[in-house]
Amino acid sequence: MRVLIIGGGIGGLTAAIALRKAGLDPQVYERASALREVGAGIGLMANAVQALDALGLGGAIRALSLAGMQGGLRNSKGEALMEVPADEFSRQFGAMAVMHRAALLSALESELDAARLHLNHEFVRFDQEDHGVTAHFNGGGAQRGEVLIGADGLRSAVRAQLFGARAPRYAGYTAWRAVVPFEPLPLVTGETWGRGRRFGIVPMAGGRVYWFATANAREGERDPAGQTKSNLLRSFLGWHRPIEALIEAADESSILRNDIYDLDPLTAWTQGRVTLLGDAAHPMTPNLGQGACQAMEDAVVLAVCLKPAARPENGLAEYQRRRIPRTRAIVLQSRRFGQIAQWQSPFLCGLRDRAVRMTPRALAVRSLKDLVAYHPLSPGDRSLLG
Ligand SMILES: Cc1cc2nc3c(=O)[nH]c(=O)nc-3n(C[C@H](O)[C@H](O)[C@H](O)COP(=O)(O)OP(=O)(O)OC[C@H]3O[C@@H](n4cnc5c(N)ncnc54)[C@H](O)[C@@H]3O)c2cc1C
Repeated sequence: MRVLIIGGGIGGLTAAIALRKAGLDPQVYERASALREVGAGIGLMANAVQALDALGLGGAIRALSLAGMQGGLRNSKGEALMEVPADEFSRQFGAMAVMHRAALLSALESELDAARLHLNHEFVRFDQEDHGVTAHFNGGGAQRGEVLIGADGLRSAVRAQLFGARAPRYAGYTAWRAVVPFEPLPLVTGETWGRGRRFGIVPMAGGRVYWFATANAREGERDPAGQTKSNLLRSFLGWHRPIEALIEAADESSILRNDIYDLDPLTAWTQGRVTLLGDAAHPMTPNLGQGACQAMEDAVVLAVCLKPAARPENGLAEYQRRRIPRTRAIVLQSRRFGQIAQWQSPFLCGLRDRAVRMTPRALAVRSLKDLVAYHPLSPGDRSLLG
């Protein structure tokens, strides 16, 4: 079965690997002239690592990563609001992997036969008939397959054709990210909450640290040229160590800034032989670190639903039946988490911080565990992936 995948991001590539393992014929069409990821880190929680294990990739991904992750929430003075020590973190949540996005993308790309990847192909629309789908590309080219998967991200053109164009919802805050060389490790890791802003510290292999910062801001607001670092240093002045040192360690030009978006969950992803995957299907805020993880879960479930289906339409209907409830809950949970974490009022932030301090650790661990101690495939499913 020839499957046209629109988009060569983390979701599209993982889907192509999974479909290949299931014995199908995936072809990836990417508009860019090279596969690219932004210069930042990415965390893959245990649920994604298990999906990659099902594809035989978990070992390679763990090898890129630093062992012994711990988690926690702090206030700007560095006082712990909630701590999960490293041994408990891995016991409760399983292996988590943190790596550079470029390393993840190239690990995925190396698993895929280069002939299946078609760069410089910007999808513009599809036509669906009884026995197939034709994708049309900018410049006049077209490709026909039996199924089409829109893995074309937040502003998906496939989603717009399926369900109408809908602007993503701006979450009300913006995020900066950088990867910096930083010693000595280990570091205090996790998130620090202030009023209307947060700072996150995530150690990576090779003596590097991935950090992110958020602040409430107007949509589309940008830092004046050459002033990102100085603005961040001003915003986080006086926060606990080593926050200022981490900002200082970044090159001005390497600091990324992105406004944060999601979309109200869709009630359907599929029409006939066409469906959605990853951010195209369920754009979510990054508060739970689950966007790419959910794309990986989508990819393996899609493969095990399509492989045995006598009619592709039935396989895609089964895929959305299995995936929509879980991703819907995560989109909404991530949105709520972000709203609370970005509170600005001193009164509300005081209440919030006290409530987090008083929450028994076991309770907090349990709610995260429901999210990440999850295998998207049953043992029977796994045998379908080669
Ligand atoms: C600040 C931030 C931090 C994050 N941190 C994490 C994290 O730690 N862990 C995690 O799991 N997730 C995280 N995420 C979310 C994660 O980055 C995304 O969910 C994930 O990258 C989505 O992958 P995707 O392949 O679905 O979409 P994308 O990565 O957007 O890929 C879509 C691809 O489609 C291509 N494309 C688009 N339109 C067309 C077209 N018309 N024709 C052809 N090709 C097209 C694009 O060029 C792109 O290559 C974070 C997100 C942000 C913003």
